Amino acid sequence: MYYRFVLDRVFILGVPVDKVSSAQVCDLILQFTSGSQQKHIATPNSEMLVEASKNKAFKDLLNRTDLNIPDSAGLILASKFIKNPLIERVTGVDTVKKTCSKLDSKNSVFLLGAGSGVAEKAAENLKKDNPEIVIAGTYSGSPKPEDSEEIINRINECKPSILLVAYGAPAQEFWIDKYLNKMPSVRVAMGIGGTLDFIAGTVKRAPKIMRVLNLEWLFRLITQPWRFKRVWKAVVVFPFKVLTKSK
Ligand code: UDP
Repeated sequence: MYYRFVLDRVFILGVPVDKVSSAQVCDLILQFTSGSQQKHIATPNSEMLVEASKNKAFKDLLNRTDLNIPDSAGLILASKFIKNPLIERVTGVDTVKKTCSKLDSKNSVFLLGAGSGVAEKAAENLKKDNPEIVIAGTYSGSPKPEDSEEIINRINECKPSILLVAYGAPAQEFWIDKYLNKMPSVRVAMGIGGTLDFIAGTVKRAPKIMRVLNLEWLFRLITQPWRFKRVWKAVVVFPFKVLTKSK
């Protein structure tokens, strides 16, 4: 029985976010890999919910994904504000690392997206930490429709059960939504944003103390100042929308 029948969800700006713990997410992914249906997992954060509030197609998509895990501190705070608290923050990077540590050789993983050489380096690091893991393949590709045929052929050639897509939101979610049914071996597809950069070590994660204090946005602003607009959306626009209950 899937957690779906047990899991509760909280709606934030019209998008359902699942009340799941990090451990439950891993169990679920493992459960999904042996299921008969294909599952799309999204990792919404504050910025994605701001995007969804302006982009109906994206909001509709996030209302039909199979699992939406709360990937930002902002969602946890928002859920507390609307008095329907989420369990905990479950980041994409921790989910990928934890899941990979539990996979057996029956399940293989394909890493799609990120900059040139990043997925390969991430695969190397995942393999170092988990010698048992089967990395079916890696490919940078692009979310452009004209590249989809090549990507799908590559994925179908190595038949992974788990597909991790790092094209950033909302491109990765639209890509999965459009093409998942063309890759029959894939049981679980998940949009993972900058996760491969973190695992490859090409982008540094905020120090633990900043993560604990919910200051990851400040670290990103200092280390990647060009992300100002995105940080503004997450730190100013998102709370404003939640506080004013605007949709
Ligand atoms: N990316 C890509 N192709 C594109 C656009 C983005 O491979 O056309 C990758 C990019 O290199 C990065 C990831 O998508 O690895 C998105 O990372 P970002 O930091 O934006 O994600 P976040 O974790 O902030 O959502």
